[in-house]
Amino acid sequence: MSRSVLILGAGLGGVVAAEALRKLLPAEDRVTVVDRAESHLFPPSLLWLMVGTRAAGDFSRPIARLAGRGIEVLRGEVTRIDPQAVAAEIDAKKISADAMVIALGAAYAPEAIPGLAEAGLSFYTLEGAAAIHAELEKFSGGRLVVLTAAPQYKCPAGPYEAALLAEDFLARKGVRGSTEIDFYAAEPAPMVVAGPEMGRAVRGLIEGRGIRYHPEHQVASVEAASRTLRFANGATAQFDLLLYVPPHRAPAPVREAGLTNELGWVPVDRHTLQTSRWAARCRRRACSRTAKPRWSRTTSRTPGPAKARRGASTAAACASSRRAAGAPAWVRAISTPSRCRASRCAARACCGTPGRCCTRSTGSGAGSRAYVRAIRLE
Ligand SMILES: Cc1cc2nc3c(=O)[nH]c(=O)nc-3n(C[C@H](O)[C@H](O)[C@H](O)COP(=O)(O)OP(=O)(O)OC[C@H]3O[C@@H](n4cnc5c(N)ncnc54)[C@H](O)[C@@H]3O)c2cc1C
Repeated sequence: MSRSVLILGAGLGGVVAAEALRKLLPAEDRVTVVDRAESHLFPPSLLWLMVGTRAAGDFSRPIARLAGRGIEVLRGEVTRIDPQAVAAEIDAKKISADAMVIALGAAYAPEAIPGLAEAGLSFYTLEGAAAIHAELEKFSGGRLVVLTAAPQYKCPAGPYEAALLAEDFLARKGVRGSTEIDFYAAEPAPMVVAGPEMGRAVRGLIEGRGIRYHPEHQVASVEAASRTLRFANGATAQFDLLLYVPPHRAPAPVREAGLTNELGWVPVDRHTLQTSRWAARCRRRACSRTAKPRWSRTTSRTPGPAKARRGASTAAACASSRRAAGAPAWVRAISTPSRCRASRCAARACCGTPGRCCTRSTGSGAGSRAYVRAIRLE
């Protein structure tokens, strides 16, 4: 009997999951992706769009192209998720499946900071990055501020990269001498997920280019008329051009489905990305089955939600493959490392000794809890 997988979201995670599952599953099984957008976007290139070295068309592709690879594509808004029924409403039409992958990414909530959206431009959106490029082209000097409006956001390197790129753009344009650049960060240091050494190195890069760095400045409000930032610690700052990373939160259908915890994010097993609800179900119903491991690409890159993750990642990856060996193939397919990556070990399967083979585990990816995944097992 054929089975069906419904993938909500055709961003980076959704497309990789769809392609991996299409390769893994027999032809009679259906793989369907749903997205509100017509085109798939590669977000890292937004930073290049911001400084004019890429055009939007260089890093977006029609999602409909997936149809040529045996993946069914639906265009529409996911308005409701029913985890119990393994179903979702797409533009109010209910679609059920045997398994569901939630890959709706993180939603932006600039409205959480009064005045932010009116006063600044965000390089985390296509429209924002394009508008920033236009503003940078016109910029003839003044006060440029780069701001992270909350400490948790996807791609911890993104705003630091953006600040360096903007500085370089203005230097090439010949207006750097008449420009002050300040970076106000809600977080205590750059790239906290990568540890203090990386933080010091990135801060050194930023300050080495004459960008003043102000950590632990949580913005409370922005006054567009007077171009003033007000921070929770009482500090204020003026700007002529404000570039920001908006606060993130779980998408509305995910929150409304009751999948989030008290922090507003979806708690998942870091090795399988299953929500705890599905993991419990898996243990009860299916995980006792033994099957030959099937290896596949993972849905996301090395995760990095906490310092502990780095230390634990080697062991975690090794442990995950052993743990996953007892799980059904669909879970293993998106939760096991595709291959051991350390130069010392060419084994395809994990050797089980921390530090010897896999150096990567799968997980929730940039922003960690911003990633949302759930899978129900047959
Ligand atoms: C400027 C920038 C630079 C980055 N640089 C890097 C980098 O260098 N390296 C790195 O690893 N990561 C980077 N990232 C992070 C990376 O892009 C994200 O972590 C990744 O895109 C998350 O993938 P996702 O599939 O979870 O979500 P997304 O890629 O955001 O995809 C979510 C999809 O769901 C769709 N969707 C959402 N809600 C609905 C709904 N209700 N109905 C229908 N469709 C919906 C959206 O249209 C979208 O297509 C960067 C991000 C940004 C913004």
